Amino acid sequence: MATTKDQRPRTRIGYGWDSHEFKRGIPLKIGGMTLPHNKGLGGHSDGDVLLHALTDALLGAIAAPDIGTLFSPSDPRWKGADSAVFLAESLKRVRAAGYAIANVDSTLILSAPRIDPHAVDIRSKVAELLDIPVECVGLKAKTPEGMGTENAAIAHVVVLLERKTRASAESRRRVRQA
Ligand SMILES: [Zn+2]
Repeated sequence: MATTKDQRPRTRIGYGWDSHEFKRGIPLKIGGMTLPHNKGLGGHSDGDVLLHALTDALLGAIAAPDIGTLFSPSDPRWKGADSAVFLAESLKRVRAAGYAIANVDSTLILSAPRIDPHAVDIRSKVAELLDIPVECVGLKAKTPEGMGTENAAIAHVVVLLERKTRASAESRRRVRQA
């Protein structure tokens, strides 16, 4: 049987970055979790800086348009939107392109609140949203020493994608049937 060689790269890397300003009187959403704090992150949507950077990393990995292009801040549909919606759309595009997520790593930069006590919960939530094991979601938190960004939260995210092959899909089916 003649097979055509798959020209798509076996792996692809994606990178995303985002920042939002702290504002009083709104909930703090990070990684799909609401964290206890006296300020939240402002923005047109729910201001979830980590999910926005993650969404851009996934879109960037498949060279799709970025989050601001797909979900314009001037579009009233996205006012106060749950950022999990943006992430779900980017994941759908990754899968449609024939890729699966191998792992994600992220760094949050913010002066407060402390992320350590919530890190496991945030990693678990992100893993759930991406449908990957929690061991495949890295999260580090740093304080913005000397950066003068005390009233902002910044997120950097990298993601590695692996090409799905027909063979791997078949072997997964066999495992399920066994
Ligand atoms: Zn954002």
